[in-house]
Amino acid sequence: MQFRDLKTQYQKLKTDIDKSIIEVTTACNFISGKQVQELEEELAAYVGVKHCISCANGTDALQLACMALGIGEGDAVFVPDFTFFSSGEIVPLVGGTPVFVDVKEDTFNIDPDALKVRIEEVIKDGNLKPKAIVAVDLFGLPADYEKIRVIADEYNLKLIEDAAQGFGGKIGDSAACSFGDISTTSFFPAKPLGCYGDGGAVFTDDDEYAKLLRSYRIHGKGDNKYDNVRIGLNSRLDTIQAAILKVKLEAFKEYEVDDVNKVAEKYTNLLKDIVNVPVVPEGYLSSWAQYTLRLGSENERNELQAFLKERDIPTMIYYPKQMSKQDAFANSEINLCEFKVAEKLCKTVLSLPMHPYMTDDDIEKVACGIKDFFEAKK
Ligand SMILES: *Cc1c(COP(=O)(O)O)cnc(C)c1O
Repeated sequence: MQFRDLKTQYQKLKTDIDKSIIEVTTACNFISGKQVQELEEELAAYVGVKHCISCANGTDALQLACMALGIGEGDAVFVPDFTFFSSGEIVPLVGGTPVFVDVKEDTFNIDPDALKVRIEEVIKDGNLKPKAIVAVDLFGLPADYEKIRVIADEYNLKLIEDAAQGFGGKIGDSAACSFGDISTTSFFPAKPLGCYGDGGAVFTDDDEYAKLLRSYRIHGKGDNKYDNVRIGLNSRLDTIQAAILKVKLEAFKEYEVDDVNKVAEKYTNLLKDIVNVPVVPEGYLSSWAQYTLRLGSENERNELQAFLKERDIPTMIYYPKQMSKQDAFANSEINLCEFKVAEKLCKTVLSLPMHPYMTDDDIEKVACGIKDFFEAKK
């Protein structure tokens, strides 16, 4: 059993993907070919925002967002303590200071009440200027943007949506990647919409930000590539990746988001009476980058993982370490506090095999393994 089955997906889409790759290799338009702009237009239309600016990966997408928002020295940027490293890494990369915030136990996403407390702490402390929030759509579920937007407006903060795992999610009729002043995603192969290498994109409705993002993406270009008006990055999406994504986006829109939600529903029905299953609030849609259980203790989690491994069922621990406990952030005084929920989650989460191509047999095999584990413990 695969944790995320990219092989089956490729076999299903092979004819179209191979044809698209050959079109690029035949035309030899490897950089900035027409497929890149076509994809950007299709992605912007799908998300329902004015601008999509593709780039080299999801981390660059976040860095580009920080650059366009003018985040730098002396700025505090609020980041959840339970996420992938990139969400916080990009803040010091542009000279700012990440201020970590605890998360909600049921949704894994940034806790709006804790966010407000942290903003007040930074204001009281007086050393840093609150500047922006990075809200992460962890495991495919959009963060609580209704509350986060109110807080951002109240304190005049910019909002970055890190939807690296959230592409395809929704709140009501609004799509993930539309909730931030600037939103970002990743096309790393295992993300909900993945390419065959590294890739990413930035989304915004703001014309000025879009102009800045397009400049920062290519060496701070002005009118052309050899007119450089600011210091930027070299962060383009390759034409081959864009061509692959154009095919995969069709499958994503047509059935993958629906199918992965059917898999989640089946897991939840089979497991909800024996273990803490993921919570999707009313009106939210997840794109299920992960299906993550919460176990009763660190011991129980580790035992279950070992038990399932014996049955050839792969599982993963996302994430074993809090952001604030990473050595890279070790001398950050503002983060020397406790984040009780994030700490607990790091010890008790376990992610199950999850992708749109999972068969009923595999879903049942996983659920059966978990049932047997708890039966054996009784
Ligand atoms: C994967 C990921 C990123 C970074 O994306 P890359 O394309 O790997 O650089 C950023 N944030 C989150 C939450 C992620 O899961």
